[in-house]
Amino acid sequence: MWTARPSSPRRREPAIPNRNRREEQLTEQPNEEAWLDRIRGLLLGGALGDALGAPFEGSTDIDPRRLHGFLESDEVLCWTDDTAMQLAFAEHLADSAGSNHVDDDRLAGAFAQAWQAEPWRGYGANPPRIFATVLSGADWRTEAGRSFGGQGSLGNGGAMRAAPAGALPGGLPRVAEVARRGAAITHAHPVGQDGAAVVAVAVHSGLHDTNRGEVTPEIVLQDCGRAATTAELRAAVAAAGALLDTSDPAEAARRTGNGIAAHEAVGAALCAAARHPDDPLTAVLFAIRMGGDTDTIAAIAGSIVGAWAGATAIPERLVARIEQHSRIEAVAARLADATLSARR
Ligand SMILES: [Mg+2]
Repeated sequence: MWTARPSSPRRREPAIPNRNRREEQLTEQPNEEAWLDRIRGLLLGGALGDALGAPFEGSTDIDPRRLHGFLESDEVLCWTDDTAMQLAFAEHLADSAGSNHVDDDRLAGAFAQAWQAEPWRGYGANPPRIFATVLSGADWRTEAGRSFGGQGSLGNGGAMRAAPAGALPGGLPRVAEVARRGAAITHAHPVGQDGAAVVAVAVHSGLHDTNRGEVTPEIVLQDCGRAATTAELRAAVAAAGALLDTSDPAEAARRTGNGIAAHEAVGAALCAAARHPDDPLTAVLFAIRMGGDTDTIAAIAGSIVGAWAGATAIPERLVARIEQHSRIEAVAARLADATLSARR
């Protein structure tokens, strides 16, 4: 485990857990078991946030008793489009991680097929139109660019599926680029793509901590700020960094926003993740209590902290409640295997 920095009297300053530090320092290779735990955490944490947040989507005032009741119930945790798209992206990356190449047409096809198989998962209006274009064989790039009066979407749909790109080898610029391309299929606006890049960088920065010593949320947020290319995402990262001492989710949401725009959802998710970097469930619950686009904000926060802390940090009884958790585990195993092999 980590050692807390004694230099900060103002707050408990947890670092991102490194379950594998000694091995990584010795070999610069993560140990297989620890790596799999982190990739499982990424996908299961995302699904957990998505499913726990979904019933509260659009609420401005989250009733803590209702949230607690849902948490303590035995209900199946049904996820939405966020997890469906994240799984499709993770599967694509598992297939291509070793090739150092993202095939945009093939990825667009994978997203479109996931939507076609389960169109009832809660998709917004924009992606299905683009997916239908993909399936018709017409030019989806033109269709994506036509959205929102020709500006393209700046919604959070690219960011909500970007976390698996953070598991790729090759450093922060590469994972940011892959995340941007994964977002661009449905989100032609630079802010929609920048949100995706920042999420992937947040994951990667906390995962690939070899030889960097202790990694804190502050360090991750610095990486995120450097990766952001738009004023909107730079401001979102700065807002998350300024909220590390804020314990009130509603107050935090007033500062980051909690809407469907990429910079609002990513700022909110980074805030929740940075406050609870070693506890995916607590990060997810903080994100939900921020209100607004709760499923997506909690999915992003859950993916990031799940990757940092690993699936073993998520209570087993909650993992067992996640819809199709065995399928998610299988995708995680494939992605972990592909990304670890690509590092060798
Ligand atoms: Mg959703």
